[in-house]
Amino acid sequence: MKRKEKKNERIKKSKRASSDEMQYEFDQSKALFEEAKNFIPSGVNSPVRSFSQVQTPPVFVKKAKGSEIITEDGIKLSDFIMSWGAIILGHAYSTVKQELRRAMENGFSFGLCHKKEIEFAKILSSSIPGFIFRATNSGTEACMSAVRVARGFTEKKFIIKFSGCFHGHADQFLTQAGSGLATFSIPSSSGVPPEFTSCTITLPFNSPDEILEETFKKYEIAGVILEVIPANMGIVPPEERFIKKLHSLCKSHSAILIYDEVVTGFRVSWGGVSSKRKIELIIYDEDGQREISFDVPEPDMVTFGKVIGGGLPIGVFGGRKEIMEILAPTGKVYQSGTLSGNPLSLSSGIATLKTISSHEGFYKNLRKKTFELFLVLKEGFSKKGIPVSIVMETGMISVFFRSKVPKNFEEVKNSDLDMFRRFFRVLLKNGVLIPPSPFEAWFISFSHTAKDFEKLSKAISQM
Ligand code: PLP
Repeated sequence: MKRKEKKNERIKKSKRASSDEMQYEFDQSKALFEEAKNFIPSGVNSPVRSFSQVQTPPVFVKKAKGSEIITEDGIKLSDFIMSWGAIILGHAYSTVKQELRRAMENGFSFGLCHKKEIEFAKILSSSIPGFIFRATNSGTEACMSAVRVARGFTEKKFIIKFSGCFHGHADQFLTQAGSGLATFSIPSSSGVPPEFTSCTITLPFNSPDEILEETFKKYEIAGVILEVIPANMGIVPPEERFIKKLHSLCKSHSAILIYDEVVTGFRVSWGGVSSKRKIELIIYDEDGQREISFDVPEPDMVTFGKVIGGGLPIGVFGGRKEIMEILAPTGKVYQSGTLSGNPLSLSSGIATLKTISSHEGFYKNLRKKTFELFLVLKEGFSKKGIPVSIVMETGMISVFFRSKVPKNFEEVKNSDLDMFRRFFRVLLKNGVLIPPSPFEAWFISFSHTAKDFEKLSKAISQM
């Protein structure tokens, strides 16, 4: 080989090794991503799919079955993303597939009333007695509509949200805290005028009582929206005091308490936290393993998404009848959707929920599986001497590269992000796919088996 060729070969090799050892195994995905960038902004239809936070090209999925996805490169990966929590039974689950095939024969969308809408709403209502529900096409719409109802019902304008909780990408939610703690928010995205976020107050999750009291005193609060178990900054344990204070302040100020259970609804339990009225986390950090368990007050409104659509587009918002009846056409709050409650999303959702309820001890089993995963992670990292904190609820888990479980988003951000990137790449190289962001929870399905956990355990030993 000539000297120049040898030099080029060396440069190529070192580039490969330093950027990411496994990139060349995903050549097809890499080529497709390059092509996608020509036609889709940043090559993706939702930012997190770009894998930009782990500085590696994204995988392109060819198909998925059970707990695995197969990439366009023909590589099988144990999947702990599970469509960001939308899949709870496993990919392409037989009962859901059958029901979808049946439903398809009768038409895809009517834009008119049909019986499945009642069947679906009845299942949801049975999980939180006294609540009624309206379907949307996404969690974003559900949260946006819930807040509109809260404002219309109370005839007040300010809402409180918390840093690190995600409620979709409606303008009013794309906020960061203002200059003082109890001041209104500033936009976190270009394209959102400050006026649009001026009625949102963004506070730290688990804020002290005094801050919450001060905010309620200072502003006419229509409602508070929170992920009662936050999953979008990783799973951050809520403090019992915090949830109870929000509930009592909402009661005493006639504000609407909204639990955003787009992730947790029908994942951590049937109906989610709003139905079970209990939080049961297991955590591990430098202080050892322990449980955080407490009763949770009932919210005034709730939003669901993800699991209840079984993988098809969905969202719902619900609340007590006297609140929800503010909606048009009988009420004065407008909200609508051409494809809302379409027969395919509802069939997939109904089949998923019926399959869950047909398995006795479904959630017990899912919790047991999640705990197995918890132990694999705990033991794997302690063998390696890598400091981590781990938080789990049924069907979801988070690993933070920091020695103490975080209390809020500020603490989450104070984790070892380089270590996360390394971890992600080592896992991918060993056939395990976790969310490509340190701020996202991992999801476990009914179809995950010991095989997936063994792969993970082996991968951690390669760290
Ligand atoms: N709320 C929560 C808690 C979420 O995690 C998400 C999405 O991840 C949303 C709302 C928005 O849902 P969608 O992506 O379906 O619009």
